[in-house]
Amino acid sequence: MAQALAFEPVRLPPEAEALRADVRAFVADTLAPDFLRNSDFGSGHDAEFSRALGARGWIGMTWPERYGGGGRSFFERYVVTEELLAAGAPVEAHWIADRQSGPVMLRYGTEAQREFFLPRIIRGECFFSIGMSEPDSGSDLASVRTTASQVQGGWLLNGTKLWTSGAHRNHYMITLVRTEPQGDNRHAGLSQFIVDLKNSDGLTVRPIANMAGDRDFNEVVFEDCFVPDEHLLGTAGNGWEQVTSELGYERSGPERFLSSFRLLVELIRAVGPDPEPAQAAAIGRLAGHLVTLRNMSISVAGMLQSNHNPVVEAALVKELGNNFEKELPEVVRLVAPANAGRLFRLTLEDTLLHAPSFSLRGGTREILRGMIARGLGLR
Ligand SMILES: Cc1cc2nc3c(=O)[nH]c(=O)nc-3n(C[C@H](O)[C@H](O)[C@H](O)COP(=O)(O)OP(=O)(O)OC[C@H]3O[C@@H](n4cnc5c(N)ncnc54)[C@H](O)[C@@H]3O)c2cc1C
Repeated sequence: MAQALAFEPVRLPPEAEALRADVRAFVADTLAPDFLRNSDFGSGHDAEFSRALGARGWIGMTWPERYGGGGRSFFERYVVTEELLAAGAPVEAHWIADRQSGPVMLRYGTEAQREFFLPRIIRGECFFSIGMSEPDSGSDLASVRTTASQVQGGWLLNGTKLWTSGAHRNHYMITLVRTEPQGDNRHAGLSQFIVDLKNSDGLTVRPIANMAGDRDFNEVVFEDCFVPDEHLLGTAGNGWEQVTSELGYERSGPERFLSSFRLLVELIRAVGPDPEPAQAAAIGRLAGHLVTLRNMSISVAGMLQSNHNPVVEAALVKELGNNFEKELPEVVRLVAPANAGRLFRLTLEDTLLHAPSFSLRGGTREILRGMIARGLGLR
């Protein structure tokens, strides 16, 4: 029988709302007013900006204070994240480390790993990549073929990772590999390692250009690449449980419906106070969808704050959110004013070029729909 999913209405508490003005003032002081902004978390790698955010205490906000974290709530983190994305701030450098590498280390890492990595991430000095996908393993992640075999003092990695965003710029990558041959249980025998992308022998990072001409993702090849025992993350063989929890963090934030947001802002600016009826209808419809998605997304933040693991709810918000952020440039294109200015045109072009990737990264829509169906008891 089908089960319902509940999205309890959540109001952001005053201490979270209070941060909004601080972030807006910081962005206004730090970024040039007319620079092309898109609100896609995956574009805009700016180490200096990340260090400035770190100095403000806006990285690792929910992490324990003993590592330099803010000890703050998921709601406070939500407001800072939302404001940075809405402003089109260049958040890519620290994004993965803040969103998922740090949390996965807090949950599964050794004390030595936490003490070494977390303060550096929090200061905006240490950036991470995700090493999950491979040439023949994307949706079916348990089929990864990269191996790690144990040697004196560590492990030798062999295989290839693909679509590794930022690996040519970032310092480390948490990677999923097979440490035991695959048996009947495909999820057994997988492990995670923290790989040093800057100082490892036997590791090659090859950038891949995307259709927009950017060089954001890479192929990462391991040929007898040595990783010391201290960089095994969690328990050998427990990689599936760990990577699944990491994907929960990866799918739960406002970045899964805000990627095209700047284009809506530019449309409203371009049509001015007296829109045509079709323009007013389009803006009203998009704003209605946006508000609903935001309410659902804040409800997911509430689940995280209450220590729940909202895997299915996060998948649902990501699936609906990806629909919205892909539909937005198509709707805007139809009602765009003929005399719209340069910034509007650039934002539209940029969003249209990147939109195909929104529903692929972080898990494709077919995979998410399968998870949602299972969560609803329909499969
Ligand atoms: C911009 C971008 C950045 C990325 N960054 C990273 C990164 O940093 N690190 C990383 O590890 N990966 C990254 N990826 C890879 C991403 O996670 C994969 O592209 C995604 O998981 C899909 O895997 P695939 O490309 O191998 O496609 P496939 O898994 O081969 O899927 C191809 C198509 O088949 C469908 N399909 C597959 N299996 C099923 C099924 N069982 N039922 C129904 N339909 C199915 C899929 O939905 C899809 O439409 C990135 C991708 C993009 C686009």
